[in-house]
Amino acid sequence: MSDSPPLKSFSLTGNSGSAMTVEQLEKHLKTLAKLEETVAPVISCYLTVSDAAAEHHFILEDRLCSLRSTFSGKQRQAFQQAAGKIREFMRAGVATQTHGVAVFSRGGDCPFFLPLQFQVPLPNTITADFTPKIYSLVELRDTYDRYVILLMKQGIGAIIMIDLGAPTEQIWTTRDEHRQQADGQLIRQLERLISHGKYDHLMLVGDLPTITNARAALPPHLASKVVDVIAACPTDPVPDVIHATLRPFLKHRDFDSEVVTRTLVNKIATQGSAVTGTCSSFRAVKGGRAELLVLLESYDPGLGWECRDCGRIETNVLCPEFCPKCRSTSLRLFETREELVRLATRIHCQVEVVKESEFLWALGGVGCMVRLLSPANSVSRAA
Ligand SMILES: [Zn+2]
Repeated sequence: MSDSPPLKSFSLTGNSGSAMTVEQLEKHLKTLAKLEETVAPVISCYLTVSDAAAEHHFILEDRLCSLRSTFSGKQRQAFQQAAGKIREFMRAGVATQTHGVAVFSRGGDCPFFLPLQFQVPLPNTITADFTPKIYSLVELRDTYDRYVILLMKQGIGAIIMIDLGAPTEQIWTTRDEHRQQADGQLIRQLERLISHGKYDHLMLVGDLPTITNARAALPPHLASKVVDVIAACPTDPVPDVIHATLRPFLKHRDFDSEVVTRTLVNKIATQGSAVTGTCSSFRAVKGGRAELLVLLESYDPGLGWECRDCGRIETNVLCPEFCPKCRSTSLRLFETREELVRLATRIHCQVEVVKESEFLWALGGVGCMVRLLSPANSVSRAA
């Protein structure tokens, strides 16, 4: 039997401006969610980077100027330090393939700086608060997620791993005189990737006869992961082929969200292992019982507050002068959606952002799947 052609693997992560994996983003999210507040503000700067550099430069300067006026004394000094680091990064640190940046910057006695680059756009929002605003990053992680492309054309075959809308690793082989062996090798490699549980979605791309045959030959557990089949001409450049998979994948993610929402509704109706509404979801996340936080894209319940001394949290009333429980005046205001997502990230609770759902809207726009208390815990709590 002839030797199989060798598989060639290329990693596209690790350098400045190169693609970020979902794992890397999750690590950054945890760092941001756990960042302890100080008296110095954290600037959270999300920008879409266009070819017209003047455009994002104008947005950045305009917003930094407005925000600066909201601080005075040492806080203003710290703000200026943080803003200076962002300007420096935007001037010299943005890679050519970057389409969106998220930069978190704090000056003062406990400085912090984290610039993140993505090959997909991000909403232009720049805010300054005492904790980083991570909702847009969590939304990006949920929207773009990750998937695998199996590319089969005359002469070549490839597995391309896509994380957060950009290729992170590619495995290539030739499909000439040893076509069957080459295809078999590629499928085994694909099986290994999918069986690790890291990738759950598969896109098939190539010239239609080849890719249709490849689909028919897939083992059932791989065939069940196929999201879509995309036709590509043998002459199409690989970046165009990758780009063509993104829109159908995003559409499929909307379908995933619908499934999650239906599961949430079923769990409320049958097992009681889910809660809905801002207050109950907050309690579940704060108590560490939340396993999955589901929220509508349009969910925005406004401000809430927390007592720094006794830990009391309220999400549906105006911030009082002092805490009604312990009478402390050390109260912290927060944006409820941001705080929910921040607390969820701290306890490793996954977040699902749903574009539209009448069910979820009727339930207050937010819900949580929760761990049920074991019978032993229930008894001891009841006693
Ligand atoms: Zn209190």
